[in-house]
Amino acid sequence: MRSALAELPAAQQPEWGDASRLADAVAELRAMPPLVFAGECDLLKQRLAAVSRGEAFLLQGGDCAETFDGITADNVRAKLKTLLQMAVVLTYAASMPVVKVGRLAGQYAKPRSKPSETRDGETLPAFRGDIVNGVEFTEQARTPDPARMVRAYNASAAALNLTRAFVGGGFADLHQVHAWNTDFVRTSPAGQRYERIAGRIDQALRFMRAIDVDSENVRKVELYSSHEALLLDYETALTRVDSRTGAPYDVSGHFLWVGERTRQLDGAHIEFASRIRNPIGVKVGPKTTSDDLIALAEKLDPEREPGRLTFVTRMGAEKIRDGLPPLIEKAMASGLVASWVCDPMHGNTYEAPSGHKTRRFDDVMDEVRGFFEVHRSLGSHPGGLHVELTGDDVTECVGGGDPIAEDGLSRRYETVCDPRLNRTQSLELAFLVAELLET
Ligand code: PEP
Ligand code: MN
Repeated sequence: MRSALAELPAAQQPEWGDASRLADAVAELRAMPPLVFAGECDLLKQRLAAVSRGEAFLLQGGDCAETFDGITADNVRAKLKTLLQMAVVLTYAASMPVVKVGRLAGQYAKPRSKPSETRDGETLPAFRGDIVNGVEFTEQARTPDPARMVRAYNASAAALNLTRAFVGGGFADLHQVHAWNTDFVRTSPAGQRYERIAGRIDQALRFMRAIDVDSENVRKVELYSSHEALLLDYETALTRVDSRTGAPYDVSGHFLWVGERTRQLDGAHIEFASRIRNPIGVKVGPKTTSDDLIALAEKLDPEREPGRLTFVTRMGAEKIRDGLPPLIEKAMASGLVASWVCDPMHGNTYEAPSGHKTRRFDDVMDEVRGFFEVHRSLGSHPGGLHVELTGDDVTECVGGGDPIAEDGLSRRYETVCDPRLNRTQSLELAFLVAELLET
């Protein structure tokens, strides 16, 4: 499929340099087994169809950029734990199923605003994610290396294997996850505000136990993988024809999205996404016109297949209340069946005086509030949240109930790309959204 896309402009691709190393890596990837099964992608599409009908809520979250070093049991466990804790709170508050999708097991490629970076007079290629080059500022690390795609495949396989083991093997037990939430509410200053909701969830669980509800669903969850379909050499090498249906699926992850910088209607990324049968997301920034949106929907989902298309809006707190309504109105008038999800992260990034890229928790929350307000006023469904988070106590975003100040960012600033909500900020976001869902 890569050759079919070769004629089209492809933004944000690395200069690999060595053609024979690239050919070797692609051949190796082509021979690898799929990371996900096409039937799972179809099941996720059904779940997302419920989101588009207003019957479910999507929670999508994880790192901005995963790293090869980050695939440790502790790290993956902490991230999953946070996602699961958020999902329980949201499920209760929305009284709807929450579709859980990680930005994980494949989120290794990053678009950059500049192709190179200069430090102390030295200019090197920009870091494009572990799948392309290394973050270290040396010529060796920054030179794109196609063999990294094979490492990314292996790292994704390891992360996905651990994730599947955790969510199917008892770690996701509802009572356990709720106990973690109770702990958060009891022991953290940021959590105490949420005693009321946690208490009500507690009551609901005790009621379930009393009447002996003990379904499999209490002990296991479905958790899907997702990443940005950015690096076309990788994604096309992992696209396979499904033997059941004869249709192509990108088996590198369940859900793939096209980013704000690569969603050109006539570009290779949208063409690629239109050819695979996975559920697809498109990031929608403040410059998107309603005509762009309709054209994207026509191209990506001409059949109007429920669950196929998700628009992930990332307008920024200041723009969402004016920018989103015309898009939704036109989509409704055109009879689109897409889901609408709020990414309150990417429109709210700024540089702190210390030079750290950061986001204010209050801006994140304000964009989410704006998203709900707009959907409520138009009668459409606020379908979910797409967030950058980690289960660790990092200091990358400022504010929150256990506040991080701008001058405290350097204490534990660990992201290799965008700033993530830490564990406390993530849980707090879930409880605040729960308050919005309840009202
Ligand atoms: C991202 O999700 O990390 C990202 C780069 O987002 P966007 O394409 O919306 O800028
Ligand atoms: Mn990001």
